[in-house]
Amino acid sequence: MNEFEKLIEAAESICILGHTNPDGDCLGSTLGTKLYIQERYPDKKVNVYLQTANEKFRFMPGFDDIIHVPSDRKYQLCIICDCNGYDRVGDFKILAEHAENVYVVDHHIPGNQKFEKCTIIPEASSTCEVVYDLMDDSFVNKDAASCLYLGLVHDTGVFKYNCTSKHTMEIAGQLMSKGIDFGSIIDDTYYTKTYAQQQVMGRVLTESLMIMDKRCIAGWLTAKDMRFYNVTSKDIDGIVSTMRETRGVDCAVFIYEMTNQNYKVSLRSNNNMLDVAKVASHFGGGGHKMAAGCTLQGSHFDVINNVTKELAKQLDAPGFVSNSAQ
Ligand code: 5GP
Ligand code: MN
Repeated sequence: MNEFEKLIEAAESICILGHTNPDGDCLGSTLGTKLYIQERYPDKKVNVYLQTANEKFRFMPGFDDIIHVPSDRKYQLCIICDCNGYDRVGDFKILAEHAENVYVVDHHIPGNQKFEKCTIIPEASSTCEVVYDLMDDSFVNKDAASCLYLGLVHDTGVFKYNCTSKHTMEIAGQLMSKGIDFGSIIDDTYYTKTYAQQQVMGRVLTESLMIMDKRCIAGWLTAKDMRFYNVTSKDIDGIVSTMRETRGVDCAVFIYEMTNQNYKVSLRSNNNMLDVAKVASHFGGGGHKMAAGCTLQGSHFDVINNVTKELAKQLDAPGFVSNSAQ
């Protein structure tokens, strides 16, 4: 038994947390872990605490039981999935602070905070991959498998990003053998969009700018735009991935205004020589080499200018070979 399983076995009460604005991997890893524990130890009390997620994930097992309000309840074990800093768990931090033990399962590049008990594998495709490897497969039921598969799908861009490995595909195969409806998981949560989402995507692409000698595509949504289309932060995942599909660009930058002049920045690299996690961490954010994010203040032009200056340190470095040159 590994340390993760020993801690689970020893705890009567367990809370599971993820990052703010939960995405597919965050939901998949938290819910998948809960369902795994419940299959293996039906008497344990396990709760998942997360902010509300997009409605498209509603059909995932366990979605309706997620608690959205933080509490000062004391759990014996707190498992944090898909982030490795208390700043990323938002208001649910209090649950981690009160817990007897904290265990972190993640695949982001570690930030400043160090955890004594953790499994953090930055090379892994997703947190679902990391957590599956800590589990005994014989207790992964169909519901848990559906959740874990969701995380693999979302963080690999449906098995195409270069974080996808042979091992990722082996896990996907193993999860498929549990009888999951993999087609619906992919279509309903990854590809299908609401009409409002399609409109916003169109708007961002139309207004976008090719900057830095066409090596970077930049797009933005102000709070006013978001009100006009009646969309929230939950509706705009996927925009930056579409932007990165532009031929020749080395990176895509998408920003949206969360509160007045306070922008969430999403960065995507298309070029192995460009590490966007470096750019994000310069501004206090983080993520992965090819996908990272941070938060910045100012007008949308200020934010894009500031990000551009930081990107230029890599794009303009001697020896950098741009995709646009190929
Ligand atoms: P996204 O652009 O999809 O929001 O995020 C891309 C990646 O960067 C994700 O793995 C996400 O967890 C990470 N990320 C996004 N924003 C932040 C941030 O503000 N801080 C940190 N540490 N990571 C972030
Ligand atoms: Mn993830």
